[in-house]
Amino acid sequence: MRTEQALPVRLEDYRPPDWLVETVDLDVSLDASATRVRAKLQLKPNPKAAAPAPVVLDGDGLKLVGLKLDGNALPADSFVATADGLTIPQPPHGPFVLEIETLADPSANTQLMGLYRSNGTYCTQCEAEGFRRITYFPDRPDVMAVYTTRIEANKQEAPILLGNGNLIASGDIGATGRHFAIWHDPFPKPAYLFAMVGGKLGVIEDSFTTMSGRKVALKIYVEPGKEPRAGYAMDSLKRAMAWDEKAFGREYDLDIFMIVAVSDFNMGAMENKGLNVFNDKLVLASQETATDADFASIEAVIAHEYFHNWTGNRITCRDWFQLCLKEGLTVFRDREFSSDQRSRLVKRIADVRFLRSQQFVEDAGPLAHPVRPSIYREINNFYTATVYEKGAEVVRMLKVLLGAAGFRKGMDLYFSRHDGEAATIDQFVQCFADANAKDLSQFMRWYSQAGTPEVAVTSTYDAKARTYSLEIAQVIPPTPGQPAKEPMVIPLAIGLVGHDGRDLPLTRKDGHAVADGVITLTKPAETFVFTDIGERPYPSLNRGFSAPVRLTADLSVDDLRFLAAHDPDPFNRWQAVQSLATTLLLDNVLARRSGAAMREDDGIIAALAAILTDEKLEPAFVAQTLAMPSEADIARDLGRDVDPDAIFASRIALRNAIGNRLGSALREAYRQMSDGAPYRPDATGAGRRALKNMCLDLLAASGSAAAIALAMRQYSTADNMTDQMAALGTLSFHNVPERQAALDDFYRRFSADPLVIDKWLALQAVIPESDTLERVRGLTRHSVFSLANPNRVRALIGAFAQANQTQFNRADGQGYAFVADSVLALQAKNPQIAARLMTAFRSWRALEPVRRGKAEAALRGVASWPGLSGDVKDIVDRSLAEG
Ligand SMILES: [Zn+2]
Repeated sequence: MRTEQALPVRLEDYRPPDWLVETVDLDVSLDASATRVRAKLQLKPNPKAAAPAPVVLDGDGLKLVGLKLDGNALPADSFVATADGLTIPQPPHGPFVLEIETLADPSANTQLMGLYRSNGTYCTQCEAEGFRRITYFPDRPDVMAVYTTRIEANKQEAPILLGNGNLIASGDIGATGRHFAIWHDPFPKPAYLFAMVGGKLGVIEDSFTTMSGRKVALKIYVEPGKEPRAGYAMDSLKRAMAWDEKAFGREYDLDIFMIVAVSDFNMGAMENKGLNVFNDKLVLASQETATDADFASIEAVIAHEYFHNWTGNRITCRDWFQLCLKEGLTVFRDREFSSDQRSRLVKRIADVRFLRSQQFVEDAGPLAHPVRPSIYREINNFYTATVYEKGAEVVRMLKVLLGAAGFRKGMDLYFSRHDGEAATIDQFVQCFADANAKDLSQFMRWYSQAGTPEVAVTSTYDAKARTYSLEIAQVIPPTPGQPAKEPMVIPLAIGLVGHDGRDLPLTRKDGHAVADGVITLTKPAETFVFTDIGERPYPSLNRGFSAPVRLTADLSVDDLRFLAAHDPDPFNRWQAVQSLATTLLLDNVLARRSGAAMREDDGIIAALAAILTDEKLEPAFVAQTLAMPSEADIARDLGRDVDPDAIFASRIALRNAIGNRLGSALREAYRQMSDGAPYRPDATGAGRRALKNMCLDLLAASGSAAAIALAMRQYSTADNMTDQMAALGTLSFHNVPERQAALDDFYRRFSADPLVIDKWLALQAVIPESDTLERVRGLTRHSVFSLANPNRVRALIGAFAQANQTQFNRADGQGYAFVADSVLALQAKNPQIAARLMTAFRSWRALEPVRRGKAEAALRGVASWPGLSGDVKDIVDRSLAEG
């Protein structure tokens, strides 16, 4: 573990590598505690580098056994080797071959970076800087080499041996009981895309014929016995391969594509060339063990990692500041895929909810950073919602600005111009500029300026002149290191809705129509005038969330009710309901804080009633509309003096009112959606279940005993995990005897299935009651829990810290103390997961004074810990930094 604070790395300091690596020949002899790694590197001076330079290779916790240069052992005084690096001060002037032999102990690797073991299976994780834990190497993404990997192992222990690329040889090694496999990857790649796996694994196999007629073998490896649960992942993979050919013209390039599911994994999944390694939670699914949301995540992440083969692998990042080049773009691509497979509208609403709840919150706090950061200490801490989700929104805006055809032209140019290279964001955006003859220099500010732009709209209708004008101002709030900002390019899709519910034509003063209904802001303030408007319209702004901004407009409750009922853009119908609810919820939080009575509002209930009974709407959309803003959403909109108890009370009151006043409509919708059809994990079935379960939850929120009985009945009779889990979730929010009975029953049924037990842990962690902390403490001592497994930690402690607003933010500070203690218990073993937990404190400055004081004390306690890991220290220091 690196405990010292790493020196900051700055984008402006980038310079090309002094030495390049043409080929890497690895010979790895797997052993539980003493794995021998022989690396043969073909090095050559970089023609782009200035003068002859020393060879400096990265290492992390390595033990050097032997070193040869061009076949001769290097004298001890001609190199310096430590655990963290290998330097040859005076290397030859031309190309040479370096042979490095090191020893590693995969069983002792609890960081899950480099080579480690998960349930006995040997596997690797090298992004971002894990390869240096396997051998000494120039571990930076702009060093791309051709890899050949020979793996040998005990045949009993690891009958399956996998590497990147194509299998070129395999066999037994005499009578030693060991065997080997040699894999060759013809595509040059950075070290972070290296992978190897050895273990006892089951497999399902299929094939895919590409658009040029090549047959690709597809294999998904899982723990033996779990093969039947990998079918949906395989189906998703084949659909993703076909989609990328159609949507982007991208074809797969090797003879084989493999996925391996492991149970101990820091991230969701990893796109290693030809050999993706997955958290098993994102591969394994069956009707009985996975929810509709799990199936949708599997489909999206399988596609995401596959899409990286072009956006990430064939074209990789020059340096880690460009992380959004592969992640923002690939998230955009996987969202497009899911939108085409499912409902585009419902997917968009879900993505916007996620963006607001995660990225907007990050952007408003001390951990805010640009989509392309310009400085970092621990790159592991930059796998953030800003890089991924906001990064995807920025790519999406390019499509809004350039249109679908212009966007595709830019992508095609990017693929042809940069294939085989390590590229930058500037080069990516330049392709769109060149392909469309557009100047996108101001647009680049989306990559360099942090903070969510605030867009304020005031409207004026002039009946005599028949004009309607929108005065629009944009402000980007200060963020750490960026006190002042320049105006952004903000594409706003808009409509002016007439009293008959139809869009009025949008004509500018110069007589031209507004192309595609999109106006583009570029200045701090500007006015857009529309002519020939015969009535005061209802403005429908930022349709489809065309720009990731916080928008305020001078809309009345009546305007919002009208738009909720009639906006031709269904996304903005949903948005209008959310805005109505937010107004009421914020008012009631303030009322509660000042001891005044909370008010009820007819606007929102009436709007919901209209949507609930509109049979033309798809059920998944109705379910999304009935889902009120979350406690975290309300806290974010409040922005300061946040009292989670007041927010909770305000939200409970609204849900209670909806459940009571819409009871018969909710019961009727529940009945209609309970069709008894066989379970299918597709969008239609999932949408019906989503609406049914939302109705159940709102009925129970009214406090009705009949609804609790209905939930208990659904829990007991459900034939799928979605309905079972939804019923259990509803029960878990009510302090009724049925709750514990159902939780105990659930445990008995699924205690042997860790992925399902994660759901059981998470449900209990988010119960909004004062004895939850004791319950969670107790569960950390339960036999199913382990600090060594990231999924367990996320399910129990992560859910408590990130999704239980009232209990994590207990006024007595005990919630903070518990999470801080957990971070300290974890950080020496797995600093990455510990640092991720620590980000739960990211909004501490927005809290009301008492809680703010307790949160700060917890943060300072962690900061003062001796031997704090660099990852955690980075998060704590940034969280505490002033301004
Ligand atoms: Zn990715």
